Amino acid sequence: MKKFFKIVGWTLLVLIVFLFGAASLFMYKVKNGFPVSYETEKPTISFPDSTPAILVFSKTTGFRHAESIETAKPIFIEIAKKRGWFLYETEEGGVFNAEQLAKFDVVLFNNTTGRLLDESQQATLQSYVEQGGTLLGIHGAGDNSHHWPWYEANLMGAEFSHHPLAPQFQTTSVIRDADADSTLAQGLPNQWTSSDEWYVFYKQPTDAKILFHIQGDKILPSGNMLWMKDKNFGMGKFHPVAWQKTVGKGRSFYTSMGHSKDVWGHPEFVRMIENAMEWGIKN
Ligand SMILES: [Zn+2]
Repeated sequence: MKKFFKIVGWTLLVLIVFLFGAASLFMYKVKNGFPVSYETEKPTISFPDSTPAILVFSKTTGFRHAESIETAKPIFIEIAKKRGWFLYETEEGGVFNAEQLAKFDVVLFNNTTGRLLDESQQATLQSYVEQGGTLLGIHGAGDNSHHWPWYEANLMGAEFSHHPLAPQFQTTSVIRDADADSTLAQGLPNQWTSSDEWYVFYKQPTDAKILFHIQGDKILPSGNMLWMKDKNFGMGKFHPVAWQKTVGKGRSFYTSMGHSKDVWGHPEFVRMIENAMEWGIKN
């Protein structure tokens, strides 16, 4: 009998150690990123002469907002066609080389999540923006899965905390800033109503000019962890959801809106993204 309890005891101990180890490894990977593969092969792209060019990047190695990503793609193509712009869409990082990137006026991260580029590709994108390029990001492009400090500081200028889960989607007014950039704001109403997964950041975006905000006290910000209960952290009542930044000689624009495919049915949202593309091309 004694032997039996000894075996059970040791088995339990081994099991506990194993589970603890597995949980620690998982937490480490969540914090530092899961191993991903990087594409380095240079694609063949036929750039038309003297036509503004937009690169749409839809790679994900973290959570994939599949419906929003796929719904957006034909809309981008349609916008580019209507405006006479060249558009290249890819989920492969090989295009992030100095020679090809320099030919694009705008790089748009379409709900990209996780680690996407190897170190040399990251450096290429960084110098592209700092030398005068434009980086646009939609929703998931601003979560905390990217593990890239330069990107977080210059696309968002604020660190993502969480998104509400009780409930996840909430309807509220999206309000335009009185001194919003005229190209970004053209054709957009002073306010519109939208339902989205409203991202919470730890603070207001640094050195940013706000295009749209929501009223932080009109949404329920509780996330999935105890310490996120009723927390909107540094966002406060004035809760930005779309903003621009200057990055060296270039610029960035980010909107935390865009979780579900439904946003692409809102002409205001689509117009905002079209305006951001035009704003980047004008730069
Ligand atoms: Zn989302």
